Amino acid sequence: MKYPSIRRFLLCLTFLVPAILPASAQRDNALTQISTIDAILNGLYDGVLSFGELREYGDFGIGTFHSLDGEMVALDGAFYQVKADGRVYDVTDTATTPFSSVTFFKAEKEIPIAPGKNYQQIQALLKETITAENIFQGIKIVGTFRYMKTRSVPGQTKPYPPLVKVTANQPTFEFHDIAGTVVGFYTPDYVGGLNVPGYHLHFLADDKSGGGHILDFIVEDATLFLDYLSEIRIILPNNADFNSLELSKDRSEELHQAEKSTGKKLERASR
Ligand SMILES: [Zn+2]
Repeated sequence: MKYPSIRRFLLCLTFLVPAILPASAQRDNALTQISTIDAILNGLYDGVLSFGELREYGDFGIGTFHSLDGEMVALDGAFYQVKADGRVYDVTDTATTPFSSVTFFKAEKEIPIAPGKNYQQIQALLKETITAENIFQGIKIVGTFRYMKTRSVPGQTKPYPPLVKVTANQPTFEFHDIAGTVVGFYTPDYVGGLNVPGYHLHFLADDKSGGGHILDFIVEDATLFLDYLSEIRIILPNNADFNSLELSKDRSEELHQAEKSTGKKLERASR
């Protein structure tokens, strides 16, 4: 053997690698979720985890804020709050979330999307081409959009109304020919009650002029990236409000109504 010392050194390094990898790299395939969608449907809008803590679990994701004050989008490690006035705000580490899903996004599949495809068509395309219906997937669509329709929700005061009541009066926003990123997740049907089955997507404009929970969109020139997530971590609120909830009821109809509600169109407040 010509270079025994080098070989020994490399061998040592191999064993050292797992220990020196940052914690984030070890959680690449994990989705971390805070609370459950049925807790939100029941009006549990008090924040239970700070964004300072949430960022330990991911650099990409969606969710909401204490008192349901807007839609959250996390992209490339930055967390944004799209409030009911349509504006995008930076999120401080001390702000808290009652419901969020995050991961360290790593694209495992890339799919170009043909111009003119809408949300429904993209869902059909994914159903046909992606045979991973029983695991979670991180979804990222980067590019320009002919049309984008989003919503946000205003912060609520106690006693908190259920989500369907809030979304019935949600402000909605429409954009045309806008560059941005769609951020979200695919959730398998069998976890209804824990999260939103199917696709749950939020939008953030490149110039931060708007965003929110997506109701509809049409692609102009965009690429879809998928991150297969076969590991999930659920952080449940351990408090009296959560522990006294009746969570055995099937609320899928109520969820459908809350997620797809077209609300009331509102022009974005000018900056
Ligand atoms: Zn949403």
